[in-house]
Amino acid sequence: MSRPAVFLDRDGTINVEAGYIRELENLNLIPGAAEAIRGLNELGVPVILATNQSGPARGYYPESWVHALHERLVSLLAAEGAKLDALYYCPHLPDGTVPEYTQNCKCRKPEPGMLKQAAAEHDLDLSRSYMIGDKATDVEVGQNAGTHTVLLTSGYGTQVLEGTYQHKVNPDHICDTLLEAWQKHMKPYFEAELANN
Ligand SMILES: [Mg+2]
Ligand SMILES: [Zn+2]
Repeated sequence: MSRPAVFLDRDGTINVEAGYIRELENLNLIPGAAEAIRGLNELGVPVILATNQSGPARGYYPESWVHALHERLVSLLAAEGAKLDALYYCPHLPDGTVPEYTQNCKCRKPEPGMLKQAAAEHDLDLSRSYMIGDKATDVEVGQNAGTHTVLLTSGYGTQVLEGTYQHKVNPDHICDTLLEAWQKHMKPYFEAELANN
C-alpha cells in the first residue's frame, strides 16, 4: 500500500531565506526545522524536498552549485540527527537566460511534476501527504497534487498573507515555522494515520 509523505520547500522552510545563495555559509537551518524532520523520520514518514532553484536558468551559477548547497543542507540536518529521504529540484524557468534550462517544464512549482514524480518513484499516496512551504506557489503545488497544505510565515509567508508577495491562497493551515507545523498538525495526523493503517 502506498504511504503518505511530507514534501518540503527549501528556502524559508528548512533553511533561512537568503535570496540566491552564493556562499555555502549563507545556507543555515531555521531553528526547529531539524527537530521537525527528525520527528517525521522517527515515525517512518518519508520527508522529501521539492524546491524551485532557478539560479542555473538565470545564469547565476551552474547546476553543480545546487548540488553543493544540498550537500550542505543534508550535512547540517545530519548533525541534528535528521534526514531527507529524497531531494527534488527544478532548475528551469520559462524565461531564463541559459537555453539548456529555459523551458516550460512540468516541475516548476506550482506545477505538480516533482510531487508526482516522487509519488511514482517512492510509492506515495499524495492525498494523505503534506506539502509545506512559505510561498503561494507551495500551497498551490500541494493543492494541484492533492495534498494537505501548510503555509509558513517563516520566509515569504507573512507577505503572501498580507497580499504584498505573489497572491493570496487558502492553505489548510498557517504556521510560523516547520516545527510548529510538526507539533500542531503533522505529529497528531501521522500518529493517527499509523494507528489506523
Ligand atoms: Mg521558499
Ligand atoms: Zn522544471
